[in-house]
Amino acid sequence: SNHLSDRIKNMSTSATLAMAAKARELRSEGKDIIGLSLGEPDFNIPDFIKDAAKNAIDENYSSYTPVDGYAELKTAISNKFKRDNDLDYGLNQIVVSTGAKQSLFNVAMVVLNPGDEVILPAPYWVSYSDIVKLAEGVPMEVLTQIDTDFKMTPAQLEAAITPKTKMIWFSSPCNPSGSVYSKSELEGLAEVLKKHPDIYVVSDEIYEHINFAGGHVSIASIDGMYDRTITVNGVSKAFAMTGWRIGYIGAPEWIAKGCTKLQGQVTSGANAIAQRAVITALEAPVSKIQYMIDKFHERRDLVLELLGEIEGFNLNVPEGAFYVFPDISAFFGKTLNGVAINNASDFSLYLLEHANVATVTGEAFGNPNCIRISYAASEKELKEAIARIKAVL
Ligand code: PLP
Repeated sequence: SNHLSDRIKNMSTSATLAMAAKARELRSEGKDIIGLSLGEPDFNIPDFIKDAAKNAIDENYSSYTPVDGYAELKTAISNKFKRDNDLDYGLNQIVVSTGAKQSLFNVAMVVLNPGDEVILPAPYWVSYSDIVKLAEGVPMEVLTQIDTDFKMTPAQLEAAITPKTKMIWFSSPCNPSGSVYSKSELEGLAEVLKKHPDIYVVSDEIYEHINFAGGHVSIASIDGMYDRTITVNGVSKAFAMTGWRIGYIGAPEWIAKGCTKLQGQVTSGANAIAQRAVITALEAPVSKIQYMIDKFHERRDLVLELLGEIEGFNLNVPEGAFYVFPDISAFFGKTLNGVAINNASDFSLYLLEHANVATVTGEAFGNPNCIRISYAASEKELKEAIARIKAVL
């Protein structure tokens, strides 16, 4: 492994996937582990989407696809942007990729030059910093606090901007904090950016529909932001289609063209059958998936109520996604069952080994005081997991 490139040596392994692997290992030793570490809905794909995929096979959608996606899918995406986000993206501004992860990677490779700085309000989604580094950009973390619901304030943004700042990447609803930026909060950030016309924004909206406060706002729809925003979205979360690997962007045409050029040399167009199924998914009214959103909402309330009974958990009320991100720094410096807890990683590992519950350390997301708990699990599992956590604390 000494001969591995510096590029790959310097890259960290996805902490969420590493936690899942560790949980699997303990399970294979016979331990009854409850996994609350993965960012994956526990629902099946709705039948109407499965049927569309089956039809696509029968209709022989089996050839290479256009590099930027089927025109019919791009049309469905364009209509979706109009319907849900008040955004007009023409077909030449849309690129379909193998998951939003690839969409993000494409954008980094297409927009960043070596040394360009990318502001990441922390906590941020685990892969942002490694994707930025792979494109030779420099991630610049801006640590947010629980008392601002882990949202970056305009003053924090202003202070983080340097002459090298090229982009800002954030997700709303946010993985891992569940926070949702309101229209006025986005306007506050846009106001700062007015003074810096060369900074681009990646707005990752993959949790858009999993929003309990209602009223998702895309930053691209805010005055002055359309020409400098890359809106990223996908079907993994809202439609429970994580394994189908379809994500997409709406962006200025020159960025979309760059992404298509890159993708044409790396993966070619995304999977044919999955793309056909996603046409059906995106054309459907959101009411078709409301039952999943309602379930997540109920579970969020349950988890907040139960965790709220544990002393030392400092919680806010996340408005979307399917995570809670408690600040557990009250435990630092304590010794529990002979285990010294000095940071969030110690705490998360302690929960895994003593309560048999898998969570993820906040360090993976750029916040060392918190852990992420995914509530994409059944109520029974959630109740049992939190009872176990309570017992070992
Ligand atoms: N962006 C965020 C914020 C995510 O949480 C995830 C998945 O965990 C992704 C992007 C990647 O999604 P996809 O499955 O479409 O690659």
